Amino acid sequence: MEDCIFCKIINKQIPSVFIYEDDKCAAFNDIHPKAKHHFLIVPKKHINAVSDIKEEDSALMGHLIFVAKKLGVEKKLDYYNLQFNVGRGAGQEIFHVHLHLMSNA
Ligand code: 5GP
Ligand code: ZN
Repeated sequence: MEDCIFCKIINKQIPSVFIYEDDKCAAFNDIHPKAKHHFLIVPKKHINAVSDIKEEDSALMGHLIFVAKKLGVEKKLDYYNLQFNVGRGAGQEIFHVHLHLMSNA
């Protein structure tokens, strides 16, 4: 989607370092980390928010959690928080679905 910063990152129009990538999603460091480790796991499909997902997106959303788990193993994180902010009131700033992985481990 035009004018979506995460689409631009995913499409490599904005150079960034991916810590993970597959055909469905990519992960990169949050620009303003709120923990020692703060990754964003972002689907390649543009969906505005969790409140907009359809049943057909269920496997994709589950995949984001699976990738979070893989990153936790790879980065040897004993514990972490996974978070979706849904809607402005919840602090969502970027309207392209993303899963936060935050850890001080
Ligand atoms: P939200 O508040 O929408 O759930 O989370 C958006 C996150 O994206 C914030 O934690 C913010 O720091 C991060 N962010 C915003 N712009 C950029 C960017 O251009 N690059 C990266 N890597 N992270 C960004
Ligand atoms: Zn987007």
